[in-house]
Amino acid sequence: MKVRLLAHTPNVDAICAAAGKSCYSERPSADLLETEVPEKTLGKIVGMGHHSVIEHAVFTFSVEGVSRALTHQLVRHRVASFSQQSQRYVPMKDPSYVVPETVRNNPEAFALYEGTMERIWEAYRELSEAVPAEDARYLLPNGCTTNITITMNARELLHFFSLRCCERAQWEIRDLAEKMLILCRDVSPTIFADAGPPCVRGTCSEGKLSCGNPRKPNKA
Ligand SMILES: Cc1cc2nc3c(=O)[nH]c(=O)nc-3n(C[C@H](O)[C@H](O)[C@H](O)COP(=O)(O)OP(=O)(O)OC[C@H]3O[C@@H](n4cnc5c(N)ncnc54)[C@H](O)[C@@H]3O)c2cc1C
Repeated sequence: MKVRLLAHTPNVDAICAAAGKSCYSERPSADLLETEVPEKTLGKIVGMGHHSVIEHAVFTFSVEGVSRALTHQLVRHRVASFSQQSQRYVPMKDPSYVVPETVRNNPEAFALYEGTMERIWEAYRELSEAVPAEDARYLLPNGCTTNITITMNARELLHFFSLRCCERAQWEIRDLAEKMLILCRDVSPTIFADAGPPCVRGTCSEGKLSCGNPRKPNKA
């Protein structure tokens, strides 16, 4: 999997801080842009839970080489925009699939997995000659690789990280979420200071389903 941050709102902290300050000021946000340490103001605002302010910060990621099993989970996040490689217009000529570690580390399982993938692609190529790609693709597996572009605002990203950096999330989407969090934290350590699963903020919300292995709080 390769995850790259393509773009983000420029001067993220200053813009979000100005938006927050404008709620309590007679002046518009354009007059409230702080050139020095806006993160101090922003940290206070975000800490209060005034999270609409960080919806003004938008991040766009390029994600490549993930499985369709992952993207099926990803696109359940509705407060986001996605553009995914089409299986109608991009021919999937050669086998390309994600191999879970449990499969890779088990020689028998790996042989079964690899052999099945080869047979699926053989059938797919044959079927593609008889019917349109949009119908031949029904043969392709969940493990098939894909590329996707994601845009989320910072509020949705915090929600996404809370759910998907958690041990209870599946390993592949957790790996994606953790990579995205590292990129976001580089841009705004303030907005993403508390980001991650609920245990980094002190409490697990999973009840009986808890992994029982809470992470250390971010601020420890
Ligand atoms: C560990 C795990 C296991 C899961 N297992 C399953 C499963 O077995 N089956 C399954 O179907 N899904 C499963 N899901 C997916 C899950 O149910 C959500 O669809 C997914 O996590 C998206 O979360 P969300 O709806 O909170 O987020 P988003 O769609 O990103 O929405 C963000 C927030 O906006 C608000 N919101 C958005 N849309 C609405 C709306 N229409 N009405 C009211 N409020 C809204 C909510 O507060 C929501 O939390 C699982 C998720 C996780 C993390």
